[in-house]
Amino acid sequence: MDGSVHVVSHPVVQHKLTQLRRSETAPAAFRALMREVGMLLLYEAARELPLHDVQITTPLGDFPAPTLDGANICLAPVLRAGLGMVESMLDLIPSAKVAHVGLYRDPKTLEAIEYYFKVPAGFADCDVFIVDPMLATGHSAAAAIARIKECGVKRITLLSLLAAPEGVALLRAEQPDVPIYTASIDTRLDDHAYIVPGLGDAGDRLYGTG
Ligand code: URA
Repeated sequence: MDGSVHVVSHPVVQHKLTQLRRSETAPAAFRALMREVGMLLLYEAARELPLHDVQITTPLGDFPAPTLDGANICLAPVLRAGLGMVESMLDLIPSAKVAHVGLYRDPKTLEAIEYYFKVPAGFADCDVFIVDPMLATGHSAAAAIARIKECGVKRITLLSLLAAPEGVALLRAEQPDVPIYTASIDTRLDDHAYIVPGLGDAGDRLYGTG
């Protein structure tokens, strides 16, 4: 696959992103918006998925109609914030499988440390969409991609709600074959590796922690 970067500039996505960014958006509204933007990001990225024809019968006759093969599509949320987007993605493609990738950021080194990794049967043959909402330093996304490639997966796409230029640059250097879909590439990272202007800590805002 080619590792292009796609900024989803659709006005509906941009409007919802603005609501997500506002400090006054409470967790219930934040969760609803994350779900909606997640579905829209996947909708955009799914343009590249293969279709195959199955014979169907309409009221007017038989016809070979294009279908997606959900059994070969896998969503891979990076815990915890990725969970905020995956349910609506399953609404869009209900037959997709789900893999879970647990990574946390070491507060000193900012390196990604794996604490959980569970994938479905047939994972290697899937089109895998990694759901990592905040592409900040890029360490967790790069670690998730490397770990998923170790399983033999060939087709990987990264879905990030927001990206920092630093994270995009790291991924282009370390995983140049993986396309990225995001709603925005923001200005920079701050001293704590938060995206500026960003939206704060996505996990905390989803679940009211922090
Ligand atoms: N993770 C977040 O939740 N927010 C950021 O800005 C960076 C990493």
